[in-house]
Amino acid sequence: MRVGNVLYLDHQASSPLDPRVLEVMMPFLTQQFGNPHSSEHVLGWRAAEAINNAKVAVSGLVGAEADEIFFTSGATESNNLALLGLSNHDQVKSKRAQMLVSAIEHKSVLAAAEEVRRVNGCNIDYIPVCREGFIDLDVLKDKLSEGVFAVSIMAVNNEVGSVQNFELIGKMCKEHGTIFHCDAAQFFEGLDIDVYRDNIDLLSLSSHKMYGPMGVGALYIARHLQKDIAPLLHGGGQQSNLRSGTLPVPLCVGMGAAADLMMQGKDLGTEICEMRNRLVKGIGNLYPGMVLNGPSYSRRHPGNANVCFEGLSGHDLVSFLQPHVAASTGSACTSGVPEPSYVLRRLGLTDEEASASVRFSLGRFTTAEDVDSALHFIDAAINKACTVG
Ligand code: PMP
Repeated sequence: MRVGNVLYLDHQASSPLDPRVLEVMMPFLTQQFGNPHSSEHVLGWRAAEAINNAKVAVSGLVGAEADEIFFTSGATESNNLALLGLSNHDQVKSKRAQMLVSAIEHKSVLAAAEEVRRVNGCNIDYIPVCREGFIDLDVLKDKLSEGVFAVSIMAVNNEVGSVQNFELIGKMCKEHGTIFHCDAAQFFEGLDIDVYRDNIDLLSLSSHKMYGPMGVGALYIARHLQKDIAPLLHGGGQQSNLRSGTLPVPLCVGMGAAADLMMQGKDLGTEICEMRNRLVKGIGNLYPGMVLNGPSYSRRHPGNANVCFEGLSGHDLVSFLQPHVAASTGSACTSGVPEPSYVLRRLGLTDEEASASVRFSLGRFTTAEDVDSALHFIDAAINKACTVG
């Protein structure tokens, strides 16, 4: 996929809006502008119906019921609503509850968990991961047996693409009566999540990671838990009082269409995987010192290629790729100084290895020509980085 002359290999940061999604959204950006909460006229009813259909589509993607889907502004809000919302739970109110989160969660989970600790005095513990980016199930098992109130573990990691064994994690949580929140913001074609089968109580989704519009996401809240969740936003009481605020109809409709396409395009995962493998192989030929970070190919996001260019600077490489290829390093930039990715560090990479890493992420519109053109620019960037180094 090209945007002008730019080859887009940063789908895990944000995926392009699928033109089919835009088409479904258009009427709601133009004539169908009614407020879905206007219950007295026909335009309001139509908007409400569109929201309901979108909830049906999103719930279908993860095996839930429509009344268990709550639209939010994105996965950041969903994660906050899930974790902070649990502060209303009797167990949190009555005693010092313990929560577990994986060490490689997105900042929106880590920071929300930290806030739960600060506000509710909950004890937060971190589950370590192995070099491939999978959580240590033995540690999880031990900690669960100590009596844990809630666990938050992502389905798919945004930097290295590791897909956790959420089926097993859900089963373990259920056996211990522990609430399981799963951040599935990095949903991809072929990911098989069924919240009932997998015993997931809370699940976060983001529209702009699945070819829908930015600015909308969803939280699945199992029906049995809804009474225990405290809202973050107070106001008109929309969405059963759990998330006040007028719903952005075009965005919700877009997320619903994106969810439908995800379901229809399950098989695309294999094609994306082939493109990703072509890229990794190509980089290996250009730079034999290359190491693929994260999982070997199984249980890995099909579009994710997080690559360590030993001896080079990932930051330099990404900047030398400008303005031809969009990719990212995963490093946080605090006061102008890039810090190596905490995710890679927690996988056990050294600072040098983490700083030498680049994430390329491919998507449903990436072609073999895109990959080959990208390799041409990557070759030039490597040569430049070698000269600079
Ligand atoms: N969780 C994960 C795993 C993510 O990758 C992201 C986005 N980078 C988020 C949460 C936050 O999603 P949003 O941009 O929709 O707030």
